[in-house]
Amino acid sequence: MNFLNYQGKNSGTYQGPNDKPMPVSLLQYIVHYAYGVNEPTILRMSAAMLDEYEGTPEGLRRKVLEKVIRTAQNTSETGNKLIPHGIVLGRKATANLIDFVYHVEGYRGARMAVGPCICQVASHKLPEGVEEMEWKDLTLFYGADIYKDLPLGHKEVNAEEAKEIFEKMHEKGYVHNAFYLFGKRSGLFVLCNCDKDLCQTVRGTRLLGPGLTSEKGPEITKRDASKCLGPEECGMCVKRCPYGANKIVDGQIVFNRDKCMGCEVCVTTCKGHARELEERKDYGFDHILNRSLVLAGKYGRPEMEIEELIEEAANEQ
Ligand code: SF4
Ligand code: SF4
Ligand code: SF4
Repeated sequence: MNFLNYQGKNSGTYQGPNDKPMPVSLLQYIVHYAYGVNEPTILRMSAAMLDEYEGTPEGLRRKVLEKVIRTAQNTSETGNKLIPHGIVLGRKATANLIDFVYHVEGYRGARMAVGPCICQVASHKLPEGVEEMEWKDLTLFYGADIYKDLPLGHKEVNAEEAKEIFEKMHEKGYVHNAFYLFGKRSGLFVLCNCDKDLCQTVRGTRLLGPGLTSEKGPEITKRDASKCLGPEECGMCVKRCPYGANKIVDGQIVFNRDKCMGCEVCVTTCKGHARELEERKDYGFDHILNRSLVLAGKYGRPEMEIEELIEEAANEQ
């Protein structure tokens, strides 16, 4: 069957090398297609709700607004069925995901297509210091098939091109978010690279915590306070953390690990080399994005063998 690039039983996505491919039904495909068509409008509504929340003082009205936002966003407690949610990834995890998407055997569609940042399209704004629209939404599997059909100009990329894009964005301090839709019934469809001001996903998480627009990833940062150079000599973690997990209190850096989403942005720029990632033991999204995939080559796990992955995935079908 071929409808708007729909690949029939081969349309779908994957959680990881040891999991069966997840087919996406024609109905899911059409629902997601409709979401894609309306995404800029949905993002504008989301931005307006967050603006209203941010501008409302503590009190009953703010509580009501929070309830409305949580209901509209269809949070993880309610199953994430119709609004995409991101899982935050560090650099190596992102590179692993790209390798997997590009090489896994069995998918018949586009695999990866890059397009313009829809948060920028929706807001008609660019982050500070950026002069033109950034092409950094890396749609994956059935997501690539859908977005290639929308009039945004998405074009197919290979693994090397995709890695070049995400590495450039990481240097800018952007967060890698692997988005999924339809809760447990489906999986990933886009790998976004998000700035901390215009991205409504990052902003929603910073304002209202994880579970609303994005989830804590499979890693978390630890800090060796004895190596910290302090806010005057460095202060990069305060400046760059998109989630407000670092603050200056009485001239010292205070790191709130509970707020850490595991994006690695502070690790990359820490002048004192005081920070590194470690595995998050209570990572709760193996059913969407399996840690055996994203953490391959780290924490005692073997590197991902692309040839083996291809064989395993082929045997699953
Ligand atoms: S989620 Fe991130 S990359 Fe995706 S559209 Fe928004 S800012 Fe752009
Ligand atoms: S503390 Fe570091 S790794 Fe954690 S969310 Fe902030 S910038 Fe990302
Ligand atoms: S980035 Fe590293 S060295 Fe710099 S203030 Fe933060 S912890 Fe200290």
